[in-house]
Amino acid sequence: MNLMRLQEELVSIGEPAFRAKQIQGWVYQKLTGSFDEMSDLPLSLRTGLKNKFRLCTLSPCVESGSHGDTVKTLFKLEDRKTIEAALMHYPLAAGRVRNTVCVSTQVGCPVGCPFCATGQQGFERNLTCGEIIDQVLYFARYLKDCGSGKITNIVFMGMGEPLANYESLLQAIATLNSADMFGLSARNMVVSTSGLIPQINRLSREKLQVGLSISLHAADDVLRNRLVPVNKKYPLKELMAACRSYFDATGRRITFEYALFSGVNDSQAHACSLAHLLHGFNCHVNLIPSNNTSNSAYRAPAADVVQSFKQELEKLGINATIRHSRGQDINAGCGQLRSRFMVDKK
Ligand code: SAH
Ligand code: SF4
Repeated sequence: MNLMRLQEELVSIGEPAFRAKQIQGWVYQKLTGSFDEMSDLPLSLRTGLKNKFRLCTLSPCVESGSHGDTVKTLFKLEDRKTIEAALMHYPLAAGRVRNTVCVSTQVGCPVGCPFCATGQQGFERNLTCGEIIDQVLYFARYLKDCGSGKITNIVFMGMGEPLANYESLLQAIATLNSADMFGLSARNMVVSTSGLIPQINRLSREKLQVGLSISLHAADDVLRNRLVPVNKKYPLKELMAACRSYFDATGRRITFEYALFSGVNDSQAHACSLAHLLHGFNCHVNLIPSNNTSNSAYRAPAADVVQSFKQELEKLGINATIRHSRGQDINAGCGQLRSRFMVDKK
């Protein structure tokens, strides 16, 4: 509920509108998990709120952790559908830490990439703005409870295609960004997309400072049509033009994600064609050796193949980083924990 809705609700039950800001402070800043803790509200209001509203739409049902640095949680929604979110804790130099939370925006995904566990689950529904925000608040409370600091980054890279749930995504970004609410800078948020061009153009016009990450995975239309099927509708030439406009409108450098699949898109010729596609564009490439799912057709290449791919790109003037996906042992790849849980339940 945004501030206005909350004020309206309060006024409708005979409470002063200023209580809305107090409640928001408890929820987003003090990270309170229950109405009982809202000690500056009259007891009668706390009871009234408890009877009428809930503070969280999610219940955690499976949690897996990896060496204390990555936690992945499967949540049950109120309609019993499930989604995943993950927290990645990176200790940095000089006592600083980075806590990145990776959130889902849909139950399943309509894009259907063949290498992706979520893509293989089909699409069920969009998440509400509240369900998106609740994933962040859950991990913010988790960090607070274990004294591990605050959330410093949010990436919309969990289950689903964020830009296919545009309204809720934008509302969630606004809430998480607002100084009166969660108060995280938009510069510390990244939206990852398979490349929905009309929505990328729309996002450019919002002039937000959120980072944009494009899941490219192939530099020619024939291969990309197979790996990221939405490419048939939104081909590479037009996608690149939309990316350039995003950069021009926001000044934010775009990141291109390129997952490496052995024997599929990992040759020197593929590296060359990627360098050609991105030539002259101020961007960064993340190379991600495949997070192996049960679909054995898409396996990670050997480490030396990954290295040569990166070297070839750099030789051709493209900045690239190899990202080893964290938490392989906890099914932390997109949709993997949910897939495992669904199999376990059968
Ligand atoms: N739907 C959005 C965001 C969620 S997917 C998108 O596709 O961008 C987040 C990232 O995980 C995407 O870059 C996606 O391509 C990647 N991904 C999914 N399955 C993967 C796998 N098995 N190995 C490596 N990366 C994978
Ligand atoms: Fe959907 Fe992204 Fe998975 Fe493709 S990679 S199926 S777009 S979640």
